Amino acid sequence: MTDFDFDLFVVGAGSGGVRAARIAAAHGARVAIAEEHRIGGTCVIRGCVPKKLLVYGAHFAEDLDDAAMFGWDVPHKRFDWLVLRDNVLAEVSRIEGAYGQTLGSHHVTIHKSRAVLTGPNQLRLDDGTTVTAGKILLAPGARPMLPEIPGVEHAITSNEVFHLERLPERIVIVGGGYIANEFAGVFHQFGAHVTVVNRSDTILRGYDEQVVDRLVKISLAKGIDFRFNSTFDSIERQDDGTLLCRMNGCEDIVADEVLFAIGRVPNTEGLGLDEIGVKRNERGGIIVDDQFRTSVPSVFAVGDVTDRIQLTPVAIREGHAFADTQFGGKPCTVDYDNIPSAVFSHPPIGAVGLTESEAKNKLGVIRTYTSDFRPMKNVLAGRNERSLYKLVVDEGSDRVVGIHMIGPDAPEILQAAAIAVKAQLTKADFDATIALHPSMAEELVLMR
Ligand code: NDP
Repeated sequence: MTDFDFDLFVVGAGSGGVRAARIAAAHGARVAIAEEHRIGGTCVIRGCVPKKLLVYGAHFAEDLDDAAMFGWDVPHKRFDWLVLRDNVLAEVSRIEGAYGQTLGSHHVTIHKSRAVLTGPNQLRLDDGTTVTAGKILLAPGARPMLPEIPGVEHAITSNEVFHLERLPERIVIVGGGYIANEFAGVFHQFGAHVTVVNRSDTILRGYDEQVVDRLVKISLAKGIDFRFNSTFDSIERQDDGTLLCRMNGCEDIVADEVLFAIGRVPNTEGLGLDEIGVKRNERGGIIVDDQFRTSVPSVFAVGDVTDRIQLTPVAIREGHAFADTQFGGKPCTVDYDNIPSAVFSHPPIGAVGLTESEAKNKLGVIRTYTSDFRPMKNVLAGRNERSLYKLVVDEGSDRVVGIHMIGPDAPEILQAAAIAVKAQLTKADFDATIALHPSMAEELVLMR
């Protein structure tokens, strides 16, 4: 290993890459990392972090409305997008700095450059210099996908949405996944008219149908429009600056912004992968084994670029496992079962394990328990929004194999509940747990 400039060279300083670099360095490896954009990657710079801060900001719209019934007089409710935007961007910069400091304190060499593979142990940087490493970890992430339609250059993606100069009065959000539903809630709360356009009539595929149905009903009741089974023919910029969306499957729509959220594709182009024989799947994702090794033995990959589960905590876990295995003498793999996930919609969704239909297909005989209730706070506020919690139980073993929730704080509650599913606890264990009253979470142990 000592013949190389570094023991490990990481391409991409996002969640997976930074974790791998830091842990490998802590194990004593000589580590360098290259990042062509900003340290922190999608999650910190243009994903989870700024999104969650916008979600917090958006929630005040409801809280300020609800405050009246709790005795608060809020006479001048007014939202200033630029104040929130700039505060969020400043916070993003602060976290970016902290990531850089962490790498620095672990003596990781940072190259603010694109890195391209030129051999199984060699990379070329922007300035033309070459660097060698015993092992190379590819963690360049993924980017938003855009359709090939006329006028697509007028649309934005989640990369640009955090930088808008003004809040749109009317926004069309394309897609029915995480990003579409999260930003539908955010922009609606900020006062924009939101139209969600989806190519099928199914949104949030993979989430429990009943929970998704509840989100659609609540969103419709709030005034969010949905256009199902609809696709775009083109987008035209009109003389008054507005965007005319020519549609297939529904009437044309005029909007101030069009946000595409139709999935993300791995960042693998121009990395030199084909040249050195790193194999990819049909969507461009790098193929790895359970220890993140690619078809080239010295080259590894973690995170979104492998096009498996595009979630930050998964990339972090993978980066950590890679570093422990390769540099810490602690071989380990990642367990992908029962990964909890959330949609930060309004209200949010939290889920872990099998949905009702997945459990029926996989296990045969199952039981489900649901609690459909109006949270105490909503009752006093006069907010007619009901929460829905569901437990999916395997009949044979009594194990709780899935928990699905929509309602205030569902992701916060679900994270703790996910431990029970991971630990294979039974419905009897849930029943034996005394309720914490009054809380929404207590419904989890009161369903009979
Ligand atoms: P998703 O994969 O969640 O959803 C994509 C949506 O776009 C689906 O409704 C899909 O429809 C639709 N779609 C796919 N291809 C096309 C197309 N060619 N034309 C029109 N519609 C299309 O993608 P997102 O962009 O919302 O998010 C990307 C990833 O980022 C997610 O997979 C997730 O892992 C991650 N993420 C996670 C978050 C969280 O954990 N809270 C938040 C934000 C992102 P169909 O169902 O028919 O395929």
